[in-house]
Amino acid sequence: MNFDTASPVHPTSRGIPVPTAKMKEGSGSLGPSAAVCPTKAIRIVSDSEVQFDYGKCLQCGLCTESSDGKLRDSGFIYTFALSREELKVTYVSGRMEKVSGLPNPLTPNQEQFRTLTKKRGFLYREVAAAGNNTVESELNASFNSVFDSEREGVRCVASPKHADAIVFSGPVGERMAGPLETAWDVMSEPKALIACGTEAVSGGLYPMGKLPKEPDLYISGDPPRPDVILQGFRLLMGRFSFRFQEELHKILENEK
Ligand code: SF4
Repeated sequence: MNFDTASPVHPTSRGIPVPTAKMKEGSGSLGPSAAVCPTKAIRIVSDSEVQFDYGKCLQCGLCTESSDGKLRDSGFIYTFALSREELKVTYVSGRMEKVSGLPNPLTPNQEQFRTLTKKRGFLYREVAAAGNNTVESELNASFNSVFDSEREGVRCVASPKHADAIVFSGPVGERMAGPLETAWDVMSEPKALIACGTEAVSGGLYPMGKLPKEPDLYISGDPPRPDVILQGFRLLMGRFSFRFQEELHKILENEK
């Protein structure tokens, strides 16, 4: 797979829900969509304004089905970002609000990690923190010959002592908060914490557990596809220039 030419919109994937032109009539009939959303990812602010937290979105399509044509499945699957805020999007009268005021894309820790890994890649220890194994299946697939994680220099290791990063899945249940913290503590600096899957980003269907620190990379999707996971890793390493809101805004505006 050529990651440099891959598209954030996938023709056979449902992707995140976005408003259609019919939203100009108002968000009045979106009540059932917000009510049916299992993770409460939709917030109707007023008749013209709707907010989506794509860090909570499972990409299940239930809201689209109950939206009276005001939402559609976009096929947009690159739901990853270096800050949690970037996955929260506001639409006014069906149009995505102009992107502004996003935090600086890189924290000092992200900068250090990027310097370390841009050329050589990184080793990660995976921590299944009360997830359902779907993310692990996709991580396994990321090593097959189609996605070829190792070509990017990204490998999985058995011990966090040998790892540059922790990739965790699941909402971090009570009994997994301690092991996740222990795995994080034994790693040497610089190191990165990567939330992989909607549950790891926001808890998804469950309350979010305790994390050792703010993640350095958020990859939403339930589960995210292997190419989405690897593009997220490439973003963190500085091999892929991407900002979720900018890209989504560009695609939605071009479709008008
Ligand atoms: S989780 Fe499902 S219902 Fe909720 S916003 Fe995402 S696609 Fe819609």
